[in-house]
Amino acid sequence: MRYLFIFIVLFIHALANPVFAEEKKDDLQQLYESMESLTGVPWEYLAAIDQYESNIHKDKLKNRVTHIQIPSYLWAGVSNPSPDDSSLMTIHYFGGMGLDGDGDGRANASSDRDVLYTLSRYLSSYGPTISHIREQIWNYYKQPMAVDVITHLAKIYEKYQTTQLEGNAFPIPRGYIYTYRNTWGDRRGWGGLRIHEGTDIFAHYGTPVRSTCYGYIELKGWNRYGGWRLGIRDVNNRYHYFGHLNGFEKDIKKGVIVHPGQVIGYVGSSGYGPPGTSGKFPPHLHYGIYKFNGKKTYSYDPYPLLKEWEQKDKKRKLHSKG
Ligand SMILES: [Zn+2]
Repeated sequence: MRYLFIFIVLFIHALANPVFAEEKKDDLQQLYESMESLTGVPWEYLAAIDQYESNIHKDKLKNRVTHIQIPSYLWAGVSNPSPDDSSLMTIHYFGGMGLDGDGDGRANASSDRDVLYTLSRYLSSYGPTISHIREQIWNYYKQPMAVDVITHLAKIYEKYQTTQLEGNAFPIPRGYIYTYRNTWGDRRGWGGLRIHEGTDIFAHYGTPVRSTCYGYIELKGWNRYGGWRLGIRDVNNRYHYFGHLNGFEKDIKKGVIVHPGQVIGYVGSSGYGPPGTSGKFPPHLHYGIYKFNGKKTYSYDPYPLLKEWEQKDKKRKLHSKG
């Protein structure tokens, strides 16, 4: 009877408080949050590391929901004769980092909870502050890009308080005239022979340029090829590059978090010379997309994505008109 009462109270409470962020939480986010409560590492950082590692490893792990893989020499210890060791005693003896996070008395390198708990404990072992954690991210990956990317992803999650950040937008809003075709991989002559790493979207001067994603502004400024340009890291650890702008939207600067469809700048023809050079070619947005695989950044063809986002934007407009 007492339980029924509690149940009813909780039920009424849930009805009366439709917390939006709560609804958008998935099991994975709850897993990160449970690790935060055990180790003090903010869940946003664990979510960011998970996302970062999903771009590093080609194969999806069996029976796992997270993508983090701790190499066996670290997990079991360098000189451990059994690299798949899950005994806490021998792992400890050989100086491995593997710990038990799910309470089954073993440190299993293929258990999501064991892996997350082990990494969280490692990250918080210098101290509980963000700078301590960042230092440990550096020590773990020995890769400057890793520290930046993970920090930036964490900041996006922190702002929205959810990992459920899907959705993209075509860079040019509906109602503006533009044209583009697939020019990825074309040869470009200016400044030495280069390959065209993007798609050119031709539009009039001053046409708004929108963010294509939920992301963190990593780059803003001048480059002699790209002119005034912006770079945005998205929640899938893709890097979106916008070149030849004639100006930036107010309040758009490094470190700002943007959402799909948010205006970030305006179409221009800047570039191909010292800062301020403009008009050496017709106005267009150069849009490129890059991925980082843990070792290097590479460009891939954005054209199919642009087509997809353009279609979705059109449908959205139709639906909203009713
Ligand atoms: Zn271009």
